[in-house]
Amino acid sequence: MIIETWTPEDTFQLGKELGERAKAGDVYTLDGDLGVGKTVFTQGVAAGLGITEPVNSPTFTIVQEYEEGRIPFYHFDVYRIGDVEEMDEIGYEDYFYGDGLCIIEWASLIEEIIPASAKKIIIEKDLEKGFDFRRITIEE
Ligand code: ADP
Ligand code: MG
Repeated sequence: MIIETWTPEDTFQLGKELGERAKAGDVYTLDGDLGVGKTVFTQGVAAGLGITEPVNSPTFTIVQEYEEGRIPFYHFDVYRIGDVEEMDEIGYEDYFYGDGLCIIEWASLIEEIIPASAKKIIIEKDLEKGFDFRRITIEE
């Protein structure tokens, strides 16, 4: 499925719709360049789960946990990860095969441990269509 958005609000809304439908144990991967809208999308997902506290990319930790919503939400940003072993150290399996929704920004950096069942989401710019245009591809 390919969705085109023209504003951050549209990308947020798309994320929100996915968040409303998410089930415990779901894993969504998010890939795309810096500043493309992965965190905006993630904030929409969080809103769709009923989370009202602010959601930003975890800067000093790999994962940020939110328990406020309909199901637990685990927000990963692995941009700064040096080695996939760092995921072992935080016990990633308890999250990926757990009781909540996982979203992983920059998932391609840890491709070898992404569950086969993960929903893959790619966000791209196309500057010919404008600065705020984004093409969002969601694999089923
Ligand atoms: P990432 O997490 O991928 O690095 P962010 O979500 O932090 O990116 O930032 C995306 C930036 O792009 C925000 O400043 C947002 O306002 C802007 N933006 C412009 N157009 C869009 C769009 N259509 N969808 C999402 N973000 C957009
Ligand atoms: Mg981000």
